[in-house]
Amino acid sequence: MTKQDIYSKLSHTASAIIGDRCGIQTSPDGRVSCLDSRAKGYVIGCCCNGCPHLSNSGCTVESLACRLWTCFTFQKNHPDTTKALMYVSAAARNAGIPHAYRMSKEENFRGEE
Ligand code: SF4
Ligand code: SF4
Repeated sequence: MTKQDIYSKLSHTASAIIGDRCGIQTSPDGRVSCLDSRAKGYVIGCCCNGCPHLSNSGCTVESLACRLWTCFTFQKNHPDTTKALMYVSAAARNAGIPHAYRMSKEENFRGEE
């Protein structure tokens, strides 16, 4: 199994673990919010704000680091999920899988292998 294969496997695992627990919602007027943005009293956006890979229908790339990262609000609301994601994160680190935030799989492996 190549590092790219492991990257995808861990991404899928992390996605399955996190599921829809970020509570992403689109209001009738088209505004997008998540657990964290609502907890902070504003309803627009989430941790993807400003990312070049963000489209109107969500993330357009496979980003392992983004599947693994969670904000403090998420961690407080979902401690067991956070713990499970930490195990996946450790597996990625131990296997030497490059995974930078806001980077696609292709960007992470540019110049590798
Ligand atoms: S790459 Fe990360 S920050 Fe960018 S849209 Fe995808 S999940 Fe959000
Ligand atoms: S990790 Fe936090 S800020 Fe990012 S989408 Fe989930 S709840 Fe929102």
